[in-house]
Amino acid sequence: MTQMTKLSRWVCLECHYIYDPAKGDKKGGIPPGVAFEDLPDTWRCPECNILKAKKGVFKRLDD
Ligand SMILES: [Zn+2]
Repeated sequence: MTQMTKLSRWVCLECHYIYDPAKGDKKGGIPPGVAFEDLPDTWRCPECNILKAKKGVFKRLDD
């Protein structure tokens, strides 16, 4: 058993892209293992290009 904390996935409500911390965002230069909360405010959705910093666009997925 690993002690790794389970990181939440987040969905972009504009285009339904799902940010999966286990995968990161290759396109945006984000390596696997980065929590959504730790993405820079300048990070953009790789699908629709909306800014992460914009409120109410990304929603945490509970699983
Ligand atoms: Zn999007």
